[in-house]
Amino acid sequence: MIEIRISNDKLKEIEKKHWVWFRDNILKNWIAKMIRETDDKFLKIFFEDRDSFNKWYGLSKYGSVIQWFQDQNDSRFSLFKEFIVGDIDTLRSKKDKLSLSGSWAIGVVNKKIKNYFEEQYNEFRSSQDQWGGAQLIDELDIKVCPYCNRHFMDTYVPDKDGGLKSNAQLDHFYPKDQYPYLVLSLYNLIPCCAVCNHGKLNNNEELIYPYKESFGDYAKFETAFLDGDEEESYDISFLLGNSDNFKIELKPKDPYSEIGKKIQKSIDAFHINDLYKFHNDYVRELVKKAIIYNESRIDEIYTQYPELFQNREEVVQMIASNYIGADELGKRPLSKLTKDICEELGLK
Ligand SMILES: [Zn+2]
Repeated sequence: MIEIRISNDKLKEIEKKHWVWFRDNILKNWIAKMIRETDDKFLKIFFEDRDSFNKWYGLSKYGSVIQWFQDQNDSRFSLFKEFIVGDIDTLRSKKDKLSLSGSWAIGVVNKKIKNYFEEQYNEFRSSQDQWGGAQLIDELDIKVCPYCNRHFMDTYVPDKDGGLKSNAQLDHFYPKDQYPYLVLSLYNLIPCCAVCNHGKLNNNEELIYPYKESFGDYAKFETAFLDGDEEESYDISFLLGNSDNFKIELKPKDPYSEIGKKIQKSIDAFHINDLYKFHNDYVRELVKKAIIYNESRIDEIYTQYPELFQNREEVVQMIASNYIGADELGKRPLSKLTKDICEELGLK
């Protein structure tokens, strides 16, 4: 999201590869359990009470769904495929209908449905020997938290215990308390760091969706002095690293545009500007580097060590100790900050 988009195509591939397993293990258990334990209340809503069904589903397709279920030899889990493998457009178009906030929806049945979903999700999440949360994160191959770009995310197999582990968590893009029906949707699961997963504000705002959207050039990190003349050049105490008289801020370029508003909501939801206060020292170092390594010095290093660098950008990358190419920002934490501040300081 902070510049890092997770590949939607990769998720689609993963979904195709594992859908049958997912259906036959997670989803089937869930439906079977629900049918067994709800005294048919659930089924009454979905299969007998046309009005409730239509209210819940938001579309007048009761008849066609019943027919479809019959065509599938009544394998009842099929309806839910849509929530599991429906992409963000499907989820967005249905999310109001899938929310628990609707008046009809509050009740025993919904609580049960929610519990069943959560139980199955926990099973998926903790599964060790078979496909599950850690494998999903591993196959998506994301190195850094897409929400904050501050933490590495690793999957690994510990020496002593054979199961795949991951230090990443899975955020429910649409929160599970409000949208229990999307708790197992692969397209609703965003691998991220613990700070982002637990600190996220769930205020029902539409945020930047990392499988399809990113901040890109629509938002930049900037430094600003906390007081005094903004146009003033960096003072000596700042350059020496003794001053805290500045802040780092990520701002949308055009806060009134659609994308700008969404970006601002995402910045707020993940407390990005609060968290980046911790990186003043990092920016201070970049300032010093920008002073020392002006353009001609960088040219000089590049010419002097042709065997060390494939191109000039690699010299800047070495000086900044980070990736600064737009396609490579997902490889290391703070890369977006580094890229933007380098641009601001003229370290290029
Ligand atoms: Zn994060």
